[in-house]
Amino acid sequence: MEYIVVCDFDGTITLKDTCVELVKNYARGEWRELDRLWQEGMHDARLISQMLLDMIKITPSELERFSRSMQIDPYFGEFRRELAAAGMELYIVSDGYDLLIEPVLLENNLAGIEYFSNQIKFDEEGLRGYFPNSSSNCSKCGSCKLEIIKLLKTGRKVIYVGDGHSDRCAGLIADIIYAKDELASLLKEQGIDFVEFSNFSDVLSHMKSNNEKLLIDIGQKML
Ligand SMILES: [Mg+2]
Ligand SMILES: [Zn+2]
Repeated sequence: MEYIVVCDFDGTITLKDTCVELVKNYARGEWRELDRLWQEGMHDARLISQMLLDMIKITPSELERFSRSMQIDPYFGEFRRELAAAGMELYIVSDGYDLLIEPVLLENNLAGIEYFSNQIKFDEEGLRGYFPNSSSNCSKCGSCKLEIIKLLKTGRKVIYVGDGHSDRCAGLIADIIYAKDELASLLKEQGIDFVEFSNFSDVLSHMKSNNEKLLIDIGQKML
């Protein structure tokens, strides 16, 4: 059985959540309550996201510089190379924004990884959010990962790596889940199986060593 690997971006590939950092650094006004509602994941994500974007005062070049300053998991580059060597497809699915993803990838020599996310465009009023991957079945996500992964998997199994509430919908469709932080707690509560990790070195060594179980294909490919 063939596998694809799908990774969350914020807090999984990056050390900090780029959306939260953007708001912390550039929002004017009372953003904390909105951010709490968004984190809670119970409300219309697109609406709250746009309300947060409305508070942000930033120029395109400042946004680019800010994105490029985001730190990533030091083992992610190696993880990507090993997957490529094993012929495994890697995708990023994010409920964050293209302009907070693309510059980070470029800055870290990771250009070319296909990603699915919300988008930011600048207009005369400031930042406008676009949600091309939103789903009519799910208002909790700006980009519903369940729907994106359904399209990507095309009969293959899915290994998912994530850290937060935006990964909940992905957890419903993934075959193997690597989770940390909030996602790990949520999955524990729901009794869904997962492998706990703290960085991509853990994920890679688990994938390589776990030959006896589901991952035998990958283990053999990668050794
Ligand atoms: Mg995340
Ligand atoms: Zn969803």
